[in-house]
Amino acid sequence: MSALADLDVVGKRVFLRCDLNVPLKEGVIKDDGRIRASLPTIQLLLSKGASLVIAAHLGRPKGVAVPELTLAPVAKRLSALLGQEVIFLGEVSSAHMRTAAHSLKAGEILLLENIRFNAAETSKEDSERAAFAKDLADLADVYVGDGFGAVHRKHASVFELPQLLPHAPGLLVSAEVEVLKKLTQNPHRPYGVILGGAKVSDKLKVIENLLGKVDVLAVGGGMAFTFLAALGREVGTSLVETEMIDAVKGLIQSADDKGVKLLLPTDIVVASEFSAQATPTLVSADAIPVDCMGLDIGPISAAAFACEIEKCATVFWNGPMGVFEFPNFAAGTTVIATALTKVSGISVVGGGDSAAAVRALGFADSDFGYISTGGGASLEYLEGKELPGLLALGI
Ligand code: AMP
Repeated sequence: MSALADLDVVGKRVFLRCDLNVPLKEGVIKDDGRIRASLPTIQLLLSKGASLVIAAHLGRPKGVAVPELTLAPVAKRLSALLGQEVIFLGEVSSAHMRTAAHSLKAGEILLLENIRFNAAETSKEDSERAAFAKDLADLADVYVGDGFGAVHRKHASVFELPQLLPHAPGLLVSAEVEVLKKLTQNPHRPYGVILGGAKVSDKLKVIENLLGKVDVLAVGGGMAFTFLAALGREVGTSLVETEMIDAVKGLIQSADDKGVKLLLPTDIVVASEFSAQATPTLVSADAIPVDCMGLDIGPISAAAFACEIEKCATVFWNGPMGVFEFPNFAAGTTVIATALTKVSGISVVGGGDSAAAVRALGFADSDFGYISTGGGASLEYLEGKELPGLLALGI
């Protein structure tokens, strides 16, 4: 693997692909974790006398300029965190990008507008992405890939571009990969994984792969209801992916065959509607009323999950245990986050959304062993998939 330390950046223009995909509400940044995680590489490159052309995406604008998905607020926050000007280019044409990049002086930073405003960035046509990558290569002398949250995407600025310039991974990407290796190559045991969030379909493959590696798998969040339904339980109006029930039955059998301790919630906090104001009621997981939906795991389940987690030497967690955005249904997620802070071995919170969730619940980054910036990317790595952005960087 080529290292950042070996890349000659002195006096060079560096194209730096970052992941600055922060949650925004009405133009206000709700969690700047991904911007902060990008700072070490930016500061290192600046200290070496490079100038930076930073590219990043925000949301899924699908190839058109969506005003709400401008990186302008990110440019402001980045500038405040660095204590220096960040020139923001509100233009997406290649000619404008070239002019702005070529007028940079050593130590200056140019942040390009949301790279996904250009349809070629995410095009399914290899030739379109390749042509766009050529334009981007014209902006800089070397490439540094530090957008971990996007390395699972075969996009022009992630996959094709690094192949056209001398390249190296940034500090964040290297750190993320080091941590993921600890989860995949001879993890210290017992190894426990807690999965939550909305959908099983997003995580089916990772569960299949993890069942061959983990000792304990705890499932909470919306996805737990498809497991309960697969066991023949009444789940009321809870989130269920009916078409996944057969696949989940297979997972339950596979856990049994492989001797993996599969933990499912035994008590559930239900409500009659999906709302922050809904009255929470605690029921047994085998007595969910037909007209109620499960919005959090109950305290007995949370304590049981926590007890197993705290015994583990390696823990990975992705996805909230309930609708943590509603305070009445955040208790399960808080108990699991607290348990992770007590793990004496390696504890990894995987995913931008899970990271934002623990911060929203009042935890500090330093409470955990490691907070990954990439949800989809870390899950695909754990699936055992080859990630285009890492492949292109020679990792
Ligand atoms: P994901 O992106 O798959 O990790 O899903 C995160 C989302 O899952 C959060 O916004 C939660 O509100 C939601 N979620 C967690 N538990 C439930 C549940 N029991 N019912 C519906 N949504 C849930």
